[in-house]
Amino acid sequence: MSAQERHILVIGAGILGLSSAWYLLERGARVTILDREPIRDAASCGNAGLISLGHPPLTRPGVSIQGLKWMFDKRSPLYIKPRLDGDLARWLWTFHRHCTRSHYEGTMEVLCELGRLSADCFESILAETAIDCDWQRRGWDDVCLHESSLDHAEEEAGLLARFGFHSERVDGDALRAEAPAYTDAVRGAIRFEDSATLSPQAFTAGLARELEARGATIRTDCTVETILLRGDRVEGVRLEDGEELTAEATVLAAGVWSDQLARAIGLRIPMQPARGYHRDLVGLESMPPRGCVLNETFIAVSPFHDTLRLAGTLELSGFDAPWLDDRLAHLTTAGSRYLRGVDTATVTQEWAGYRPCTADGMPVVGAVPRRPGLYVGTGHAMMGMTLGPASGRLIAEAIYEQAPALDSPLLAAARY
Ligand SMILES: Cc1cc2nc3c(=O)[nH]c(=O)nc-3n(C[C@H](O)[C@H](O)[C@H](O)COP(=O)(O)OP(=O)(O)OC[C@H]3O[C@@H](n4cnc5c(N)ncnc54)[C@H](O)[C@@H]3O)c2cc1C
Repeated sequence: MSAQERHILVIGAGILGLSSAWYLLERGARVTILDREPIRDAASCGNAGLISLGHPPLTRPGVSIQGLKWMFDKRSPLYIKPRLDGDLARWLWTFHRHCTRSHYEGTMEVLCELGRLSADCFESILAETAIDCDWQRRGWDDVCLHESSLDHAEEEAGLLARFGFHSERVDGDALRAEAPAYTDAVRGAIRFEDSATLSPQAFTAGLARELEARGATIRTDCTVETILLRGDRVEGVRLEDGEELTAEATVLAAGVWSDQLARAIGLRIPMQPARGYHRDLVGLESMPPRGCVLNETFIAVSPFHDTLRLAGTLELSGFDAPWLDDRLAHLTTAGSRYLRGVDTATVTQEWAGYRPCTADGMPVVGAVPRRPGLYVGTGHAMMGMTLGPASGRLIAEAIYEQAPALDSPLLAAARY
């Protein structure tokens, strides 16, 4: 069978699945994408839309210790639901072991390179399509209330300079001169100049439409029950209704649920579902001119046309725990210390979704060694919107046995 005729199944129509499909179609594959939901509810639609090049992983020096202190603070960005859970305990221990300076610097080198590749991917996809997603390559601001936070943020941003990314310190008055949205309490910001923002829902849905127009089949309301094996080789999938689909290759891009499907065929991709929330607001008199993170709270803020999205909180509560309303409300109460009018604006939407978080802080991208025919793209935690297009390209390159644009053991599925 010629390379042109390969049929590839993609499980998951989030940013990882759709981006993989884009680069597979580009190589002449016949692509079928399967998702149990409409393209509306996944993390890839509800995230904050910061395309944050050089974003650090969760595994930073000192974070695991800080996390323990945060567990007892109701307003902290992290919440771990206390429970007896072997998977969670193993994940936390592995996470703690990776919060070292040497792991951090190694991961940053890879993440920065992946980020740079992803920015190119976004720009070429947007140039080739008519996707209207409010893409703004004007950077984002790490906005601080305290001088000490500004100093710390500036020091962290210094690491990115080593990898060719630019940042600049901006004082509070300069921010307010540009946009009256910022309160007088804001002391300044570190501006990450190379980064971008977009409306994630508009990009994801737009990419899906473009894929269909180029010949991909997208089946929503279509749950994959299991991955099918013949010996060790992955042959396709069986759907919940019993239908079996076969393909030359299968891409597992089912977000945090990828581990459940992998377990059924004897693999593990240990991840924790880290829930976050967003609240969309309209009716603000003044909006920040670009995306920002409210430094002391880790809340991400993005303006999309007339809507301001506040997103944040990292909750390790397992799946399907009830929403924590005070954490949702905290988005606007904490946000109002930085931005005028967010506590009185009209709330148009509230949402919660899961980040797929590996214990070493790194995505899992590429071929699965013990299961020929299977490729994986997951584990992008807080960076999936940023890195998804580049990871999708790496997956397509792996399937077509082409030299990868980036090759790192820190991304490899072989590490599990
Ligand atoms: C509050 C919040 C804010 C965020 N902000 C940012 C940000 O500003 N910038 C950034 O880069 N990242 C951000 N992220 C992270 C980013 O959203 C994720 O890393 C990314 O969306 C993960 O994409 P994915 O394709 O791996 O998974 P998902 O988007 O979760 O997609 C997986 C898909 O697989 C489907 N699926 C699962 N199981 C099955 C099955 N058995 N059969 C069929 N389909 C299945 C699901 O329905 C889903 O549609 C944020 C996340 C959250 C929660």
